[in-house]
Amino acid sequence: MARYTGPVCKLCRAEGMKLYLKGERCFTDKCPIERRNYPPGQHGQRRSKVSDYGVRLREKQKVKRIYGVLEKQFRRYFQKAAKQKGVTGAALLISLERRLDNVVHRLGFASSIKEARQLVRHRHILVNGKLVDIPSYQVSKGDVIEVKAKSRENVRIKESLTAAQRRGIPPWLSLDAANFKGTVVELPKREDISPQIQEQLIVELYSK
Ligand code: SF4
Repeated sequence: MARYTGPVCKLCRAEGMKLYLKGERCFTDKCPIERRNYPPGQHGQRRSKVSDYGVRLREKQKVKRIYGVLEKQFRRYFQKAAKQKGVTGAALLISLERRLDNVVHRLGFASSIKEARQLVRHRHILVNGKLVDIPSYQVSKGDVIEVKAKSRENVRIKESLTAAQRRGIPPWLSLDAANFKGTVVELPKREDISPQIQEQLIVELYSK
């Protein structure tokens, strides 16, 4: 599958904001955005006029990168969101936020979405006591997500969990760190997701 494998910090610099793709480094002053918050490349510091289309396109790319979703899959999320009642943009973000790989990351079992996806794919994660190895699995209210017993000695998981506890977890999730277990207390709401995302621009892009 054509997944981006280049330097991820360049993606943040291209979008002009932290996308948190690199785990713990994103929370330190080693994050390149802290030092060079302008687009990468020779002409990165030149100011160029961006068209309305360009602004909308960038917003979509940004969200795709945050959740690590490819174009075709992202469009499917949008089509589903458009069929739901309520605000399409919010529904889109909420269904992305409910992905199992995102929840594993938010609970602190992995330091980035990429790492979380690997944990899910490599069968380290249980949902309601059953192995689930599908990163796009949509969690529901009341679901219990846990690291399987055999994987709890994994040093990376332990380190990520300790770091995540320091930072805190979103209000729609609860964490029992001692038992490597988290619960979806309620479904996420728009206000639980980054206010820096302007989802209306994505709706406008796809509605053209
Ligand atoms: Fe983005 Fe993290 Fe790299 Fe900072 S360290 S530029 S937030 S991926």
